[in-house]
Amino acid sequence: MDYVDQVLQSVVKKNPAEPEFHQAVKEVLESLRPAVKANEERYRREALLERLVEPDRQIKFKVSWVNDQGQVQVNTGYRVQFNNAIGPYKGGLRLHPSVNVGIIKFLGFEQIFKNSLTGLPIGGAKGGSDFDPKGKSDREVLAFCTSFITELYKYIGADMDVPAGDIGTGAREIGYMYGQYKKIKGTYEGVLTGKGLTYGGSLVRKEATGYGLLYLTEEMLKCNGHDIAGKTVVISGSGNVAIYAAQKAIQLGARVVTASDSNGWVYDPDGIDVEVLQQIKEVRRERLTEYKKYRPESEYHEGCGVWSVKCDIALPCATQNELNLEDAKILVSNQCIAVAEGANMPATSEATEYLQAHGVLFAPGKAANAGGVATSALEMSQNSERLSWTFEKVDKELKQIMLSIFHNMSDAAKRYNVEGDYVSGASIAGFEKVADAMISQGIW
Ligand code: NDP
Repeated sequence: MDYVDQVLQSVVKKNPAEPEFHQAVKEVLESLRPAVKANEERYRREALLERLVEPDRQIKFKVSWVNDQGQVQVNTGYRVQFNNAIGPYKGGLRLHPSVNVGIIKFLGFEQIFKNSLTGLPIGGAKGGSDFDPKGKSDREVLAFCTSFITELYKYIGADMDVPAGDIGTGAREIGYMYGQYKKIKGTYEGVLTGKGLTYGGSLVRKEATGYGLLYLTEEMLKCNGHDIAGKTVVISGSGNVAIYAAQKAIQLGARVVTASDSNGWVYDPDGIDVEVLQQIKEVRRERLTEYKKYRPESEYHEGCGVWSVKCDIALPCATQNELNLEDAKILVSNQCIAVAEGANMPATSEATEYLQAHGVLFAPGKAANAGGVATSALEMSQNSERLSWTFEKVDKELKQIMLSIFHNMSDAAKRYNVEGDYVSGASIAGFEKVADAMISQGIW
């Protein structure tokens, strides 16, 4: 049997009831086929793919805390340390009720290639909990974060594993976790990224994923004969990635007309007002229904209909599998020219294939949203140096990294005769470095 098919089959068998993990492995291994073919004998002998799809370790733990009514709550915490061939484990912590081991594994697996693509020395990991910070008081969030890190601290460290934010984990949560880690360990080390600016955080980290998404999208458009200025952009989500993607898109001269959350979406014909969005989401922690109060000419709709809005560029920035085949068909019929994934795996496999088959430029998340983790790695460098870089310096580094990610994935696609297939190019470019490091380090 073909090596890739054999490994895919065994992943499904060994990891039952983890559909998102199966999907992520399938998408990556399918796009690695040409690179695997070229080295099949060696990779088989080294069991390279089998070792790549098996996490180094999975940690699952109890997180007990007390709510404001005095009731004890129990959540489940996870950390999946997937692969540290090229550097310490690195990846975010997701706090969302949908979190389970399969979701964390899919994210951790993708993170290996994303981190490799940045060109920085960071391995792949992911973690989180089924805790939902929405609607919780600050004291409840503090109680959860304290309990969570009181267990997780044993497995992380500045040179071992450096978690960061993700859905539901922002500066507040990272701050609470950092404080408790410091209290237990007694060391002031760069063990978490996304920290506040007064205690070791990096300028631009907050903006990095959204800004990076736009730097890469702009380059992809430019290299394919398009200018981002004047284009209409549809964005999903209204969290960290979506807000700063919208801000940078507007700075680059595009018009952003939508935003969404898990209940509904807004269409603003005059262009989304990012300051209003920041007030609602970052300051007041409110729902998107509030947007219309500030911008009466906008429309609010229940559900998730952003992809029905005519656009030139679509940027899914909310969550996995939020853009399906039907959505892809609408985007194509509306003559959308580019889709770039701000979220992790927001397009289903069928949607991705359809978009690519119909000539839509498609930048996969592992490349397009790598700006966040790249800037986290820059935060690690600043912590090690005990220095803080200026906004301009970090932003310049981020832009350079995103351009080089684009060119690396584009060149890898060309080398394997799939020019313009950035999905394959990104996986191959990320994989080559990890594979070489794994083989060089013997068997582990
Ligand atoms: P946030 O928690 O800041 O925002 C998430 C946004 O997506 C919110 O608007 C949220 O709405 C919406 N959302 C979440 N879950 C769902 C769902 N099941 N259905 C519909 N909408 C949903 O997270 P981020 O912006 O940080 O992350 C967004 C995506 O980007 C994730 O896939 C994440 O893994 C990825 N990413 C994030 C990076 C970062 O630096 N933050 C780096 C790389 C990737 P609501 O408020 O209603 O829940």
